[in-house]
Amino acid sequence: MPDPSKPLTSSSPSALAAVEQDILRACSDAKRDRAEVTLIAVSKTFAADAITPVIAAGQRVFGENRVQEAKAKWPELIAAHPGIQLHLIGPLQSNKAKEAVALFDAIHSVDRSSLCAALAKEIAAQNRHPQLFVQINTGEEPQKAGIAPADADAFLAACRNDYGLRISGLMCIPPVDQAPAPHFALTAKIAARNGLTDLSMGMSADFATAIQFGATHVRVGSAIFGHR
Ligand SMILES: *Cc1c(COP(=O)(O)O)cnc(C)c1O
Repeated sequence: MPDPSKPLTSSSPSALAAVEQDILRACSDAKRDRAEVTLIAVSKTFAADAITPVIAAGQRVFGENRVQEAKAKWPELIAAHPGIQLHLIGPLQSNKAKEAVALFDAIHSVDRSSLCAALAKEIAAQNRHPQLFVQINTGEEPQKAGIAPADADAFLAACRNDYGLRISGLMCIPPVDQAPAPHFALTAKIAARNGLTDLSMGMSADFATAIQFGATHVRVGSAIFGHR
């Protein structure tokens, strides 16, 4: 992790390289191909001048947790740097589905029927098809978004049958006070029995463990950009 007392902008390219080394090592330990794991650099709260050096260092996939914040800073960065992919990793209100489908290449927080309906409508209207993940609330935390594990199979069936949505995978955020491994294992198990290939799991503190449990998308913020 970068030293939080140091200026962040100058340290982020070397922090990115260190995260990349850790991902390589985790893939090698898990006997997985590095190409199976997408690193999402989570740039929430950081301004364009902190993001530009990370783009210059070669990173192209970024994550944001708020539609309005992403809309304010990313269109210009995307126009200036071809090949950027933007992932929405935070909760999405149905009334922002239009903007989300227009801006993001992936949405990791599909978690209720009303949002499915709004997304299906916008995907058809805009003919844009962001990759979709259903968020699973593996810790069944009342304050956290996501589908309860026991409801996941039925919700995934509804996404497909009632809304015509193609869901590519699952996302989870383990409770902060628990070991993440059982949560990653549970998410992987639900995905496997539903024929889903993509697993969005693992953050700065636990992405190596997540890779061990099959993560295909790791969402890493502070280990790259410094503390928020
Ligand atoms: C902020 C955030 C991350 C990144 O967290 P770090 O601990 O900074 O790596 C990952 N996933 C979600 C959903 C987030 O909101």
